[in-house]
Amino acid sequence: MFNRKVKGFALADALLTGVETRTSAPICIKRDKEYQSVNTQGLFPAGEGAGYAGGIMSAAIDGIKIAEAMALSMNKAQESI
Ligand SMILES: Cc1cc2nc3c(=O)[nH]c(=O)nc-3n(C[C@H](O)[C@H](O)[C@H](O)COP(=O)(O)OP(=O)(O)OC[C@H]3O[C@@H](n4cnc5c(N)ncnc54)[C@H](O)[C@@H]3O)c2cc1C
Repeated sequence: MFNRKVKGFALADALLTGVETRTSAPICIKRDKEYQSVNTQGLFPAGEGAGYAGGIMSAAIDGIKIAEAMALSMNKAQESI
């Protein structure tokens, strides 16, 4: 059936064909505009497990965003001392 959608997917001489059935987490840990958890200040949900990525590239990009948000948050905390 999938071979009808993606021609060449199924090979007649293949012994076993595996399909990827799920690519990302079924849950999403909500975060605010500063990338922190909406109910746990200081927690930065990130990447696939938290529901913000579905592969290597999107996980990496989300990691960069989170690293920047954490640095910003630490700077803010430092300034308020
Ligand atoms: C077999 C397989 C093939 C894949 N192939 C591809 C592909 O070809 N292309 C693609 O784009 N994506 C692929 N992926 C998906 C990709 O690997 C993930 O989307 C990506 O690694 C998610 O990155 P992440 O940093 O969000 O999570 P992860 O890479 O899972 O990192 C989570 C980290 O948290 C650590 N951790 C977990 N719990 C705790 C804890 N309590 N305390 C401390 N540390 C903890 C874990 O040890 C881990 O190091 C594949 C995945 C699998 C399983």
